[in-house]
Amino acid sequence: MRGQMMNMPLLISSLIVHADRYHGDTEIVTRTVEGPIHRYTYSDAHRRCRQLAGALQKLGVEQGDRIGTLAWNTHRHFEVYFAVAGMGAVCHTINPRLFPEQIVYIANHAEDKYMFFDLTFVPLVEKLLPELKTVKGFVVMTDKEHMPTSIPNAICYEELLDSDPGDYAWPEFDEHTASSLCYTSGTTGNPKGVLYQHRTTILHAYAECMPDALGLSSSDSVLPVVPMFHVNAWGLPYAGAMTGAKLVFPGAGMDGASLHELMEDEKVTLSAGVPTIWMGLLAHLKQNNAKFSTLKRTVIGGSACPPAMIRTFEEEYSVHVLHAWGMTEMSPLGTVCTFKRKHRDLDSEQKLALQNRQGRVLFGVDMKIVDADGKELPWDGKAFGDLLVRGPWILNEYYRGEGGNPLREDDNGNDWFPTGDVATIDPDGYMQITDRSKDVIKSGGEWISSIDLENTAVAHPAVAEAAVISVAHPKWDERPLLIVVKTEGQDVSSDDLLKFYEGKVAKWWIPDDVLFVNELPHTATGKLLKTKLREEYGHHKLPTA
Ligand code: ADP
Repeated sequence: MRGQMMNMPLLISSLIVHADRYHGDTEIVTRTVEGPIHRYTYSDAHRRCRQLAGALQKLGVEQGDRIGTLAWNTHRHFEVYFAVAGMGAVCHTINPRLFPEQIVYIANHAEDKYMFFDLTFVPLVEKLLPELKTVKGFVVMTDKEHMPTSIPNAICYEELLDSDPGDYAWPEFDEHTASSLCYTSGTTGNPKGVLYQHRTTILHAYAECMPDALGLSSSDSVLPVVPMFHVNAWGLPYAGAMTGAKLVFPGAGMDGASLHELMEDEKVTLSAGVPTIWMGLLAHLKQNNAKFSTLKRTVIGGSACPPAMIRTFEEEYSVHVLHAWGMTEMSPLGTVCTFKRKHRDLDSEQKLALQNRQGRVLFGVDMKIVDADGKELPWDGKAFGDLLVRGPWILNEYYRGEGGNPLREDDNGNDWFPTGDVATIDPDGYMQITDRSKDVIKSGGEWISSIDLENTAVAHPAVAEAAVISVAHPKWDERPLLIVVKTEGQDVSSDDLLKFYEGKVAKWWIPDDVLFVNELPHTATGKLLKTKLREEYGHHKLPTA
C-alpha cells in the first residue's frame, strides 16, 4: 500500500525560497574581493538569484549544463550556487589553489559551459583561456568599475544581473537531478568528479543542522572559513539557508587578523575550517592578546585536529570544538564529535580526550572497520582497520564512471565506499582516524599511527607544525621520521623532542630521527602533502639504520 502524503521533490531552490519567506530580513555579510564589506538579506539574495537564473537562461544555459566557478566565499558565489542549481544546471566549484594544469583538466573534463571567477583569479584565467575549450563565456564576479580589460568579451557579473528583471520561476524536476560537482584533490592520478544531487544535498543539510552534529539554528551567525570550492563549504551555505542563520563570508581575507575582525564585527557564533587556518588565527590572537567575544563553537575537520589546538580553543578561548570527519565523496560530513548523555559528568580532561576522536556518525551514514580480508573488526577502540561507509549522500560512482566501480560489496550484498582511512571505533561508536592507509607506518609487521605521533609533537610549545612519514629501515622495514616546523622565536633540539614522546606513546613508536624545516608542503585543501615529503625525505638515512 502506498502512503498518501504530498510528493514534493527535495530541491535546492526550496532552500532559498524558504530563507526569503521566513528569514527575509536575516543578513548575509561579505568581505568583498574589491575590499569593502557588503551586507544584504536573504530576500535580496533570492531576488538576485532569480535575476542570475533568468540571465543565464537567456545566455543559453540549460538543465544539466556545468557552470564552473573559481571563487572565494562571497555573496556572489552564494548566488551562483543557488541560481545554477535552482535552474537544474550544475554548479562546478573549482579549487583555484590546484596546479593550473589540473584546473584545465578539471574544467575540460567537466565540459564547463560558463566560467565565473573573482578578480583575484583574472591572471589565472588569462593564462588558462586558450586551453578552456568548452567555455562559451567568462563572467567576472565584480561590478562595472572593477572590470578587467585583459579578457576579451568578458561578462560583468553585476551587469549580467541588471539585465534581468528577476521574475524567473524556479522549475520543479526530479530530486535526483545533479546539482553541484566537486573534484577530489587527486594527490595521485587525475582528480575525479563527485556529482551531488538536490536530494543528497538537502538530506545532508538536514543532518548537519542536528544538535548532535553542528547544531545550526536561526540564532547563529555562521562564518564558513572552509572555502565554497572545498566540498560546498561543507554544506554550510545550504544549511544556513535551511535554518535562516546569518551568513558571514570572508572573501579572500583568510588571514588571522581579517578573520578575527570579521568574527567580532558580525558577532559570529559558529565557524568551520581546517586546522591550518586555525593555526593562523590562534597565532594572531596570541600575538595581539585578543579574545573572541561571541564565538561559541568551531568545526574543525579536513585533517586530524591536534589535541593541543582543541585544548587551546576550549581552555583559553572558551570556544567549543566540534571535531568532524568526512570527505568529498561524502558530501562531506560523516562524523562529528559531540557528547552523549552518559558523558555529562566527565571532567574536562576526559572530555578533551574524547574530543580527539572524530566522533559519531550522523543519522544516514553507516560505518564499519574491516581487516585486509574484509572481515568486520570489533568496536573496542583498539582494533584498527579500513574504514568503510554507506548512506544516501555518499558517492556511488565518480563522474563519467572514472576509475570503475569504487564500491565494495559485502556478504549481504550491500555496497560500501572504502574511505582510504584507517580507524578505530569504540564501544560507544566514536570513530578515531589513525591514518590514511597510504600513510600508515609499518614497523616490523606492526602499524604505527603517523597522526598520533604528529599530535604528540605539536603539543610541545616549540613545535608549530609536524609531519611524520615512514622511512625505509633494514631491520624493521619502515620507521617513523619526524619533520618539524619550529614555533617562531622558540628553539628545541632533536633529543628534547624525542624525550618528549616518552610516556606518551609506546616506546617502539618513538620516531628514529627529527628533521627541522622552514615549512611543510600542503595540498590544495590544506592537508599535509605526505607524497611530497616521502619523495623528499623518504631516503633519509636514519641513525638507527
Ligand atoms: P575534506 O578535506 O573536505 O574532508 P577530502 O576529500 O579532500 O575532503 O579529504 C578527505 C580526507 O581527509 C579523509 O578521507 C581523511 O583522510 C581526511 N580527514 C578529513 N577530516 C579529518 C579529520 N577530522 N581527521 C583526520 N583526517 C581527516
